[in-house]
Amino acid sequence: MAVTTEKAPKTVPTAFEMAVQQLDTAAEILHLEPRLWARLRKPKRVVKVSIPFEDRDGNTHVLDGYRSYHNDWRGPTKGGIRFHPQVSEDEVTALAVWMTWKCAVMNLPYGGAKGGVVCDPSKFTLEDLERLTRRYTFELARFFGPHVDIPAPDVNTNQQTMAWIMDTYSILNGHTVTGVVTGKPIALGGSLGRKEATGFGCIMAVVRALEKLGWSNQGLTVVVQGFGNVGSYAALAAYRHDMKVVAVSDVNGGIFKDDGLNIPKLMEYVKENGTVLGFTDTDEITNEELLELKCDILIPAALEAQITRENAPNIKARMIAEAANGPVTPDADNILFENGIFQIPDILCNAGGVTVSYFEWVQNFYELRWSFEQVMEELERMMYESFDAVFEISQKRKLHMRTAAYLLALERVSEAGRLRGMFP
Ligand code: GLU
Repeated sequence: MAVTTEKAPKTVPTAFEMAVQQLDTAAEILHLEPRLWARLRKPKRVVKVSIPFEDRDGNTHVLDGYRSYHNDWRGPTKGGIRFHPQVSEDEVTALAVWMTWKCAVMNLPYGGAKGGVVCDPSKFTLEDLERLTRRYTFELARFFGPHVDIPAPDVNTNQQTMAWIMDTYSILNGHTVTGVVTGKPIALGGSLGRKEATGFGCIMAVVRALEKLGWSNQGLTVVVQGFGNVGSYAALAAYRHDMKVVAVSDVNGGIFKDDGLNIPKLMEYVKENGTVLGFTDTDEITNEELLELKCDILIPAALEAQITRENAPNIKARMIAEAANGPVTPDADNILFENGIFQIPDILCNAGGVTVSYFEWVQNFYELRWSFEQVMEELERMMYESFDAVFEISQKRKLHMRTAAYLLALERVSEAGRLRGMFP
């Protein structure tokens, strides 16, 4: 039998390949100086650490942890930390690149970074998670700081994780430093509205898009992939805007209900049962089926590369609001664009989280406490402002919304780089 050595063509690029491709597309249109372009194609610094810890049963684990710093021309770096088996240097670096653009699209005074630990946190007890978080922080503490690098929650990390990081960093520095992380519990200087910010911000972008596109918001149907912190609050905001959330999913699979799910009740159910599966009067569907459902607005709120050139032709949504980071591959972007599907790109659509992180950081410096209403009002103002700026570029230049968002971000970042010059 003949042995074929030819590799099957790769349909899913790595996250970092996606990030570079997206940058290249925008840099070409902008005629970006080769010097800045070359710099932006690589991270400033990537730190890899080993995290040894002993679990409750006396087993020793040595996990791999990362923090990747893409760019700090506009200010200290900002970005979440995730705990997931899929974490790799490639993934955190792509996510760091996306943070640079996200902060620039929102005009926040930050650069981009991202971190992660390769692990399945569902296998660990709370004590285990505390130990590994503290050890990760200890290993990276010299690279953290309120004016250096400010982590935040991401996939499988939360307010408690941020409290441990803040505590460990503060002990090492001999005094309490609230501004070293955002997404903290309210009692430790967290901001009201931070927990809801990414999901709520995503729906603010959707509402603005509907207005700009002149679509009626009567009886709109919504599908949400992922029911973690981002997906659940996006679904809740959609529900409160009288949209019909017909399907949601989590890692175990999805549920569908033709006449719409009661999201507040579903959130209660998930708190008790740990999954959306089994919720009353619903049919089970797979995550793959969920993405291809007929609906008005599809909200991927899970991981990267969910919509690829394989399933993009089957997407029936009229709009995709990217609550996750990097859920659509560049190949798929082209197919969706040709099919007239309106996309709100991740660096704009899910920027509500980092925007309220910025509010939290400012409140920490000035010892202020904003009300929930104040946070949401300011978030809405900034989401609308950035949406309008991106939408205008895309309309004027007939570009994909992602490319328009990249042009805006890249203009801001490259102006900072140009002014700072190159050292030495
Ligand atoms: N992890 C979130 C993101 O991907 C938030 C980052 C932050 O608040 O710094 O945007």
